[in-house]
Amino acid sequence: MIPFEITVRTSALIEAREITGEIERLVGGNEGGLAHIYTPHTTCGVTINENADPSVMKDILDALSRMVPQDYPYRHAEGNADSHIKALLTGSSVTVPIERGNLRLGIWQGIFLMEFDGPRQRKVLVTLV
Ligand code: ZN
Repeated sequence: MIPFEITVRTSALIEAREITGEIERLVGGNEGGLAHIYTPHTTCGVTINENADPSVMKDILDALSRMVPQDYPYRHAEGNADSHIKALLTGSSVTVPIERGNLRLGIWQGIFLMEFDGPRQRKVLVTLV
């Protein structure tokens, strides 16, 4: 099964970009199954969390920045070790059930690309199973 590919252009160093709508469009017409949403990068992630109150994602990004500061003396010479660690904490994929052509997300849930080394152009691969 060949995945669909979505391109996401982020606009900040650290950003939570909601991609629920783009994925819903791919899922439309599928009665049931699973949507596997994966990003093939090492300094961004994919996660599910609240999309109703935007301050929740801001608090999450602030918390990740407090836990993994940018200015720690890391070994990774590229200068973005904190981005790799934040991406590890977020994870690179989520799987969501499909029900009657819709993602079976909770009422407050959205799917987010978590940018930690932007702004960049990112790929998200969506496989419907
Ligand atoms: Zn790096």
